[in-house]
Amino acid sequence: MFSLAGKVALVTGASRGLGWAMARALAQAGATVLINGRDEATLRPRVDELSKAGLKGEAAAFDVTDEKACAACIQGAVQRHGRFDILVANAGIQHRRPIAEFERADFQRVLDTNLTAVWMLAREAARVMIPRKSGRIIMTGSASAFLARPTISAYVASKGAVHAMTRELAVELAPHNITVNAIAPGYFATEMNTALIQNKEFNDWVCKRTPAGRWGTLDEIGPPAVFLASDEASFVNGHILTVDGAFTSSM
Ligand code: NDP
Repeated sequence: MFSLAGKVALVTGASRGLGWAMARALAQAGATVLINGRDEATLRPRVDELSKAGLKGEAAAFDVTDEKACAACIQGAVQRHGRFDILVANAGIQHRRPIAEFERADFQRVLDTNLTAVWMLAREAARVMIPRKSGRIIMTGSASAFLARPTISAYVASKGAVHAMTRELAVELAPHNITVNAIAPGYFATEMNTALIQNKEFNDWVCKRTPAGRWGTLDEIGPPAVFLASDEASFVNGHILTVDGAFTSSM
């Protein structure tokens, strides 16, 4: 069960953090994984790490806000491998600023990366998946789409929209045998959260507020992605899978 042997996947924002953990897990399950980030130099060691473990990965360096590059990556995968099965639209950025000081350009930058790029990638994936009547689209949402914190208005707006778009695309693509789901992580100790981890007060708050009593670890994000990407999850569609140590279940 849960084998991805022979499948071709793209994971965006996989140079580090949650994306890398999901990319590695998909490769361990047998997929050939296109590992995306903006800098080829950071992707090479990731590809080498997979290759040393006997797993299949390729560097796919491009900016997810570049519409032509998104299309070229997915079409290139089809040309090279004859198929494209799994999209994990994970790349995301954060910008923290009180609303009264938030610049419109920064709001737009967060929306472009966290929402518009996810939509563009899903569209490109759908274009190759619909004719094959098969596919898996997984988006990285966030617990903060359910529960808000101050200073991250653009981020919360983008992730709330990703959750809503997950449901819409699931409804639209289900007749084509394509599933669209999102993973909503709670607090994971990645580079995005460096400032929070280094803030003792915040770090203590996360551990107290999360019923599991700790931050999530990278090994805990890959298996849910493998499940959603697998043939066995064929009737799981339009679902937001929280992976958060019960954070969003707790008052
Ligand atoms: P990191 O900051 O550790 O990693 C972000 C990744 O996104 C990097 O690989 C980065 O690659 C890539 N990236 C950013 N912008 C672009 C772009 N324009 N084009 C291509 N790649 C890009 O973040 P996390 O791993 O923590 O977060 C991953 C996802 O999970 C995000 O969507 C985030 O919002 C979400 N999330 C994270 C949580 C957490 O606690 N960590 C909680 C909830 C959600 P590079 O810089 O090399 O280009």
